[in-house]
Amino acid sequence: MAYKKRKRRHKTKWNYKRIAIASTSLAALVVATTVLIIVSGKDKSGDSSYNSGIVADAAQNNSNKKDNLSTVPQQTSVDDKQNETSDNTNAVSNDNVDTPTQNVNPTNQAGNNGMTSKTSKGYSITEVDGITYVDGILIANKTYALPADYNPGAVDSEVMEAFSVMQNAAAREGLNIYISSGFRSYETQNRLYNNYVAKDGKAEADRYSARAGHSEHQTGLCFDLNSIDDSFAATPEGEWVANHAWEYGFIIRYPKGKEDVTGYMYESWHLRYLGKELAKKVYDSGLCLEEYYGITSQYE
Ligand SMILES: [Zn+2]
Repeated sequence: MAYKKRKRRHKTKWNYKRIAIASTSLAALVVATTVLIIVSGKDKSGDSSYNSGIVADAAQNNSNKKDNLSTVPQQTSVDDKQNETSDNTNAVSNDNVDTPTQNVNPTNQAGNNGMTSKTSKGYSITEVDGITYVDGILIANKTYALPADYNPGAVDSEVMEAFSVMQNAAAREGLNIYISSGFRSYETQNRLYNNYVAKDGKAEADRYSARAGHSEHQTGLCFDLNSIDDSFAATPEGEWVANHAWEYGFIIRYPKGKEDVTGYMYESWHLRYLGKELAKKVYDSGLCLEEYYGITSQYE
């Protein structure tokens, strides 16, 4: 009896022990699962760093976060004509007139001030802090202006990286392409445009130079190559760029024969970064960016 009793007591003890072990294991499992969930959540949000500026849109372009960066168009075409080349070159890096305001993420802010409408082709037009995004792509043309204080200060780093890759590819073909004019502030553009108006008159100046706030050069997402003049198109470099820029994420923003749509004369030297995916689509379409999205480029 006594033995049995003792044995039973022992058994009971043992069961407590098993329960304690099981509870501990369960707790460990819960902790591990929690950690796993937190870690994977972190990983996801880390991707948002790609949305640093240029692109607005997580909602529309989820498929290619990286390319989001590239999407902003704007315009200034010929402004950078030859006689202004030295001035423009300086502008590439020395134009930090204002505080940079580039890192706008419309997706996050759309709830505050984003007004959304549709283009004639059904793409969304969202305005955030005075900046217009079409399908998540920053747009600056004669219809859509940038705020005077929008000043990224330089050509975007992702755009410069893409340019380097393209430049190296061209170099392997024995060709030399280089940026002659990149970022230009509102103030610089204002000075340039007014000089052209004084020289050629407003109507003519508007064909090749953007009014302040309407220049794509203010976006930091475009640049002018080499000679910045009509002779560029017929050079081996100009021909190579026309055929291959899209492979590196760029389009010729003001194509031949599209002046009525883009608002600017043909500029073989002015490239706009869109990221590889979109640049290929636009290139394959044979359309200029305004036609592709179904938007206008006209001063009011
Ligand atoms: Zn240009």
